[in-house]
Amino acid sequence: MEKIIDESQQGSTLALEKDEKNGRKLYIESYGCQMNFSDSEIVASILAKEGFNTTQELQEADLVLVNTCSIREKAEVTVRKRLEKFNAVKKTNPGMKVGVLGCMAERLKSKFLEEEKIVDMVVGPDAYKDLPNLIQEIDEGRNAVNVILSKDETYGDVAPVRLNSNGVSAFVSITRGCDNMCTFCVVPFTRGRERSRDPQSILEEVNDLWKKGFKEVTLLGQNVDSYLWYGGGLKKDFEKATDMQKATSVNFAKLLELVAQAQPKMRIRFSTSNPQDMTLDVIESMAKYDNICKYIHLPVQSGSNRILKAMNRLHTREEYFELIDNIRRIIPDCAISQDMITGFPTETEEDHQDTLSLMEYVKYDFGFMFAYSERPGTLAERKMDDDIPEETKKRRLREVIELQQKHGLYRTQQHLGKIEEVLIEGPSKKSDAHWMGRNSQNTVVVFPKETYTIGDFVNVKINECTSATLIGEAVGLSENN
Ligand code: SAM
Repeated sequence: MEKIIDESQQGSTLALEKDEKNGRKLYIESYGCQMNFSDSEIVASILAKEGFNTTQELQEADLVLVNTCSIREKAEVTVRKRLEKFNAVKKTNPGMKVGVLGCMAERLKSKFLEEEKIVDMVVGPDAYKDLPNLIQEIDEGRNAVNVILSKDETYGDVAPVRLNSNGVSAFVSITRGCDNMCTFCVVPFTRGRERSRDPQSILEEVNDLWKKGFKEVTLLGQNVDSYLWYGGGLKKDFEKATDMQKATSVNFAKLLELVAQAQPKMRIRFSTSNPQDMTLDVIESMAKYDNICKYIHLPVQSGSNRILKAMNRLHTREEYFELIDNIRRIIPDCAISQDMITGFPTETEEDHQDTLSLMEYVKYDFGFMFAYSERPGTLAERKMDDDIPEETKKRRLREVIELQQKHGLYRTQQHLGKIEEVLIEGPSKKSDAHWMGRNSQNTVVVFPKETYTIGDFVNVKINECTSATLIGEAVGLSENN
C-alpha cells in the first residue's frame, strides 16, 4: 500500500468557466505533485486566450493534454495507460490532438514522437508560453516539441485560472526547479535549475486571490526554504550578484513575512521544506504571525546517517533532531509531516530500524511513504544497484506506514477537548450534513453544518478523532471572519 499525495485528485480534469467567444475544446488531466496541478492552471490560462474552453468529456475534445509525473515508475505507467485510452478515442474522433506536458515530457522528450508515435505534442515544464506556437504546428499537421529548460521562467506574469477550486484555498508557486541533486530524485532533470519568482508578482497574486474571496494560500516550490530573489536569475548565481542586489535580496523568511503582512486575515501555508535549507528565521517568522499556519512538511526520507549520505541529503539524523527540537521550542503546537523512502539501495535492517526510531522521536502528524523506485538518469541509477528485493521494500514500507498510523492517532488525540479554528473548505466526503475543513496544523476537521458556510473561519470543539481526522462541533465564528 503506497500512499500518494493528493490521491483523490490524481488524474482529475480541469473545468473552467465557459467563454462564449471560445470555440475549441480542451481536456486537461493532471498527475503528480501539487506543482503540476498548479501548472495546469497556468496552461489553461494561456489556452483560454487561444480560443479554448475546457471540457470534461474526453470524446468531444479537440485537444487532450496530460500533465505528467516521473517521480516513481508507477506514475509513468499510469500515464501510459491513459495515453492508450486517448489513442483509442482518437480513432472515433480523428481531429483530436494529444499532448504530453510536464516531467515525463521533459524526461522522454521526442522519444514520444519518434519511437512511440502516440502523441502529437511534447511540452516540458518551462515551455508552456510556447503552447500557442506549438498548437499552430500541430494544427498544420506537424508534430511539435519544446522541452527547453529555462534559467528564468517562473510564469510570474501569467495569472493562473483557478480550476476545480473550492474558492477558498489556492496554490501560488514561488520557486521552480531544484538544485539539491538528491540521488534518488528525477526532479532536477525534469524541472531544471532552481529559480525564484519576483516577490512583487507573488504579492500581487495573493492580493488578487484575497479580492476574489480566497481565504488561504499555499506557497509552492520543490524546496521553498531555498527561495531567494535578488532581481532574477538562478539561485546558484547569487554569489555573482552585485552588493546592491545582495543587500535588497528577499529570502524565504522575509517572503513569508511580506505575504503574512499583506493579507493578515488570510491563512498562509507553504510546501515543501527541505531540512538542510530550513533556517531558524523561517520558524521565527512562522511564530510571529498568527496567520502563518503552524504546520511544516519536512521530508527526511530515511533515519539512517549512512543512507542520508548515499541519498545526498546534506544533513545528519542528529541535525534533523536539532531542527525538530527548535521547531517544538519556538512553536510548541506545530504539526510536522514527513516523506519517507523504504528500500533505497544498500538499506539494511539496521538502517530501517534507524528510520523507525527517528519516527518514534518525532512522532509525525502525517506522512507520505514510498517504496524506492529507481529512476533513469538519477545518480542512484547510474552509481548504485537497486539491490533491495521488492518484498523487503514493501514489508519495510508497511512497517513505516503502521508506525505512522500509530503516531497519527497519538497526535490527533492531543487535539481532543480543545477549541480550534477551522477554515471550511466544503462538504465532508462521508456526510452531506457535515462540513470539512482544516485547523492551522492541517488536520482535517469534520463537524455538523448548522448555519455556517464554505469559507467561514469557525471555532470547533474537538470531541473525537481517528488517526487522520478530528470530529467536533462548532461553537461560533472565529474573530478572523
Ligand atoms: N522536494 C522535496 C524534497 O526533496 O524533500 C520533495 C520532492 S518529491 C516531488 C516528493 C517525494 O517523492 C519525495 O520527498 C520522496 O519521498 C519521494 N520520491 C522522490 N523520488 C523517489 C523515488 N525515486 N522513489 C520513491 N520515492 C521517491
